[in-house]
Amino acid sequence: MVYRLGIDIGGTSAKLGIVDGDFKVVKSAKAATKGISADEIIESIAAAARPLLAEYEVASVGIGSPGRVVRETGVVERCGNLPFDHYPVAGNISRALSLPALIDNDANCALIGERAAGVLRGLQNALIITLGTGIGGAILIHGRVYRGHNNRAGELGHFCMDLNGEECECGLRGCFEMQGSATALIKLTAEYAAQNPGSVLARECGERISGRTAFEAARKGCPVAKALLDEYGRRLALGLDSLCYVFQPQMIAVSGGISREGENLIEYITPHRVADNPVKTSSLQGEGGLIGAALLGTEYAV
Ligand SMILES: [Zn+2]
Repeated sequence: MVYRLGIDIGGTSAKLGIVDGDFKVVKSAKAATKGISADEIIESIAAAARPLLAEYEVASVGIGSPGRVVRETGVVERCGNLPFDHYPVAGNISRALSLPALIDNDANCALIGERAAGVLRGLQNALIITLGTGIGGAILIHGRVYRGHNNRAGELGHFCMDLNGEECECGLRGCFEMQGSATALIKLTAEYAAQNPGSVLARECGERISGRTAFEAARKGCPVAKALLDEYGRRLALGLDSLCYVFQPQMIAVSGGISREGENLIEYITPHRVADNPVKTSSLQGEGGLIGAALLGTEYAV
């Protein structure tokens, strides 16, 4: 059996995992990344990796990182929530572990993982979108990850859905991510709860609102929660259908925390859809990016 080490770097922590030839994570670990320097992040990851590498002989190390990643040089040019500024992440991890290491953007890794072992298994033309703080994405065309001329393609959360919408940090207005991200759902939840103070939704909101709050209230039969999820589903359908018309994918996979709702989420989107390309929630959940990272350098990651 061939084992590979995958590392999925996030703003709070990095997930590490030994992935076997059947794409299963057989052993995992976590490393802190928040509030420390780039060099300290590398040391934190290396310290978490060493016990895994003592137990398993790995063929390769692959890293998924948010931000602008230059695969060829292993450098992360810029990253919103990590202190990587033209920083050689892959080179430094490689040196710390005395193993060759490859790196790619985390959304591309999620696509690679989902295509090898998840809901996009075996497909040639597909998209993945991640509903989180923003909306991330990656594009598979004719079996290859499409990266654009500068490695920056796949910003599937940044196209205009509202001409008069608020200005987005990308420079456009009313972007899909401002309508459809988990942040947008939380904002919508707060608005509906404030307008309906006696509702189950308002009670569910309590101290803290998350992307799951509205789903919890809807499960308890709350009509206000159902109406807000219907609105959120309408927005997602508009964005996803727009992407379908541009790319005509065999499927769009939806990942991120909200996608754990599975069919529950899809049910709110479906009534508003106009394109017939299937949309499904990720089947690997949090592990897709890790598995995809582990597959960098293999035939699954072209
Ligand atoms: Zn934008």
